[in-house]
Order: sequence, then structure tokens, then C-alpha cells
Amino acid sequence: MVPNKINGLIVADLHSHTRASDGSLSAAQLLEIAEARGVNLFAITDHDSVESVAAGRAAALERKVNYVAGVEISAQWRDVPIHVVGLNIDESDASLLAGLSSTRAMRTDRARAMGASLAHSGIANAFDGARRHATHPELISRSHFARYLVDSGVCASNGEVFSRFMKPGKPGYVPVNWMSVEAAIALIHGAGGCAVLAHAARYDTEALGGVSSLISDFKNLGGDAIEVICSGHSPSDWANFAALARRFELKASIGSDFHSHAESKVRIGDLPRLSPSLTPVWQGWSIAQNTVFPNRR
Ligand code: AMP
Ligand code: MN
Ligand code: MN
Ligand code: MN
Repeated sequence: MVPNKINGLIVADLHSHTRASDGSLSAAQLLEIAEARGVNLFAITDHDSVESVAAGRAAALERKVNYVAGVEISAQWRDVPIHVVGLNIDESDASLLAGLSSTRAMRTDRARAMGASLAHSGIANAFDGARRHATHPELISRSHFARYLVDSGVCASNGEVFSRFMKPGKPGYVPVNWMSVEAAIALIHGAGGCAVLAHAARYDTEALGGVSSLISDFKNLGGDAIEVICSGHSPSDWANFAALARRFELKASIGSDFHSHAESKVRIGDLPRLSPSLTPVWQGWSIAQNTVFPNRR
């Protein structure tokens, strides 16, 4: 019997992407890296897709990694686009699948409009270019456009892309009427999961009372947790979001938001542990309490 708690600790990484959305690796590759990095509780959370969830679960069975199904839903708080991660979901839930399918349709429409907007600014063929980088035509993210803009020499780096393009006031920006936070939480709860507000430091909340106003609403709407430690947060954000989790009595999550070796600053599992003063999002999950890995090498 092999204990799942390496050095007695849960080593969690609960936010990552595969090629089903805008990551560069497969589910099996992510699980291989997670195991090698000592992660023993892992989730794949693709944007608006659960396509890789089953492959991740199958790969986890071959590794010393406990696994929960996840997704990262594109949603909207007032007019601010935000991401709500669903963890420990039933990925076959029909309402969840229908909601994700509608969201992907909005992505396709947005991608065409983004291509048109970039063409208007003199950048030709961006929709086709982005689509070539995407696994599925219905799951095109701004990352796929970014890869095209770098490959075609328009920008030198992803950083340059996201400062010059695809945000309010810049070429290629197309607002989308994503589902409400309430709807995202309802879909996740309907699928038996925990609703986690992703990387809240990244949102432009200043004109709307700041991030505490978003977190307060998220809690009041039934949200379960916030990401405290994640690649979108600086070390000073870790302390701020730990305090916000305690203040609003939300659980805490942790995740690298890994997309690819080339693009991601933070490697899988390469994050400090959550403070013991926080309630981890996995509290109460049977998978996080199971102390043996039957049938694993
Ligand atoms: P979308 O969901 O299509 O709006 O695209 C969001 C994705 O774009 C994120 O999940 C990241 O993969 C990527 N992204 C957004 N902002 C940045 C940034 N400043 N630098 C690098 N990648 C970014
Ligand atoms: Mn992404
Ligand atoms: Mn995100
Ligand atoms: Mn993500």
C-alpha cells in the first residue's frame, strides 16, 4: 500500500489546461508531470470543456495521483468577464454539458468577430490562424490568437500580444455576454461540484468596488471557494486572498493554471502550500481522504 499523502501532506494543483482548450499538452502528459512533481491531488480545468476529464481520470489511475473532474467556466460579474472553476464535478451532468456547449458557441462567434476586428487593424487571416492552433473550432481562446500573432511575427511575445491586442479599447477586443456568476455556480452545484472563483486578482474590478465586492457577491450567490495561491497571484496577493477567504468564510484553492512549458511561468505543483489557517476546497472530498492507491505502480 502506498500512502497518498506525501510527507503527510496533500499536495494539490487544481487548475490546468489540456489541448481540449488552450493548453499544449494532453491529459496523460499533465498527469505524468503531476506525479513527477509530487502532486497527489490534481484537476484538469479546461475552459468551457470537459472533454479531457475522462482521459485525465484514466491516466491518474496509472499514477500516484488522486484526481477530481474539473472545468473553468467563462462567466460574467456585472460587465466584467471572470472565470469560475468547478471542481469535483460529475462531468456527465446534462445541464452542465448544455451550458458548456452554449458557451463554446459564443466563443466561435467571438473568434470570427475578433478575426474581423484584427483584419480591420491590418492583421489578416487571424481567425484562420487561431483556428489552426486550436484542437476544436468551437474552442478558440485568446491564447490561440496570441500564438498566431507571435508565429506570424506581429508580436515578439505573448506579453506583447496581451498588452497591444484583445482587451478593451485594443484591436481584436470583442466583448461576450458570458453566463452570469449565478448561472455558473448553479451549473457547478447541479453537477455536484464546488464553485471556485479563479485568479480574482486578475480582474478589472476597480470601478465596481474592488475585488472584495466581487468576492462578497460570489459568496452571497453560493460560491464555495476562491483561488488563494495561483499563478495569476503575486506573493502579496496570496496573503490578501487568504485574508479575504477567511473574511468571507470561503474555502481556499490552489492551482498553477498550467497551459504549456513555453507559456506558463509556474510549473505544475510549483506553488507554496495553502496556509493551515484556511479551509482547503478539498475538505470533505472522499478522494482527498483515501489513503491508499490500489492497483498502482
Ligand atoms: P479567453 O478565455 O478566450 O478570453 O482567453 C483567456 C486566456 O488567454 C487565458 O486563459 C490565458 O490562457 C490567456 N491570457 C489572458 N490574459 C493573458 C496575459 N496577460 N498573458 C498571457 N496569457 C493571457
Ligand atoms: Mn487559458
Ligand atoms: Mn482563467
Ligand atoms: Mn485557467
